[in-house]
Amino acid sequence: MYIGRFAPSPTGALHLGSLLTALASWCDARAAQGKWLLRIEDIDTPRIQQGAVEHILHSLEHYGLYWDDEVSYQSQRTCYYQQALDILQHKQLIFWCTCSRSQLAQTGSAIYTGQCRTQQQFKANAAARLAVPQPNCLIQFNDGVFGAQYEDISQTVGDFPLYRRDSIFTYQLAVVVDDALQGITHIVRGADLLDNTARQIYLQRCLDYQTPFYSHIPLIVTSKGEKLSKQTGAKALDFTNPSATLWQLLVLLGQNPPKPLQYEAKEDILTWAINHWDLSNIPATLKLITDN
Ligand code: GLU
Ligand code: ZN
Repeated sequence: MYIGRFAPSPTGALHLGSLLTALASWCDARAAQGKWLLRIEDIDTPRIQQGAVEHILHSLEHYGLYWDDEVSYQSQRTCYYQQALDILQHKQLIFWCTCSRSQLAQTGSAIYTGQCRTQQQFKANAAARLAVPQPNCLIQFNDGVFGAQYEDISQTVGDFPLYRRDSIFTYQLAVVVDDALQGITHIVRGADLLDNTARQIYLQRCLDYQTPFYSHIPLIVTSKGEKLSKQTGAKALDFTNPSATLWQLLVLLGQNPPKPLQYEAKEDILTWAINHWDLSNIPATLKLITDN
């Protein structure tokens, strides 16, 4: 059984790029007659923006992208993240890092250089890092859009954090635990996360979880090359003509919707999209250009 998900962070309103990802993930799940879950990734509390959750839910409904089951919220699932951290502690796969930001900067290396590796006992006011085998830890996976991927995480990131000094579980830990506990089989998400996938697969192996099938969707940029993101203050979605927007997004996804379809009701566009969905038509380019 296919179980997919859309997992937005409520750090701002949904923009065209996140709607593109949501649409791709929804079509992929519906075409496979699978489930599509909605998970609000509100674990990084300082970054949450008031009203963003409501805006995301409302936007998805406005475009006809209905989800199955109840919405889940990471902020209510910290007990599961703690359990996973305890398992990793028990397996001696994590250590407690007391390095300050400036100490880390002083090493002059983007990769953690393993200073605190011997601190295997829990320490207060410390970050928990996963010990990544050195000098190599090559992860290979086959992405549904980008094809064969290889990343040696000992060379790209090194020991990465699972729990922060400010007592927040990291995205890497939370997303891996939730995807496993919710039985997610297929992940369709933005290509900005392509280089997070190897870390997540390694963490899945440490926790004896299955690895889902990943497909990454290119990001939308403006013709000036600017990334559309909540952070750069991307234009909010234009709600006036959902049919035209959905049609335009299907074009960007390489699905070749017929021209007259853009004047149909959004339900008809979505039905067409499910019936004609072909993941292999999505262009494997990191950027899709649009100015509207
Ligand atoms: N919450 C993440 C984001 O909004 C996406 C997580 C994921 O799909 O793995 O960027
Ligand atoms: Zn350290």
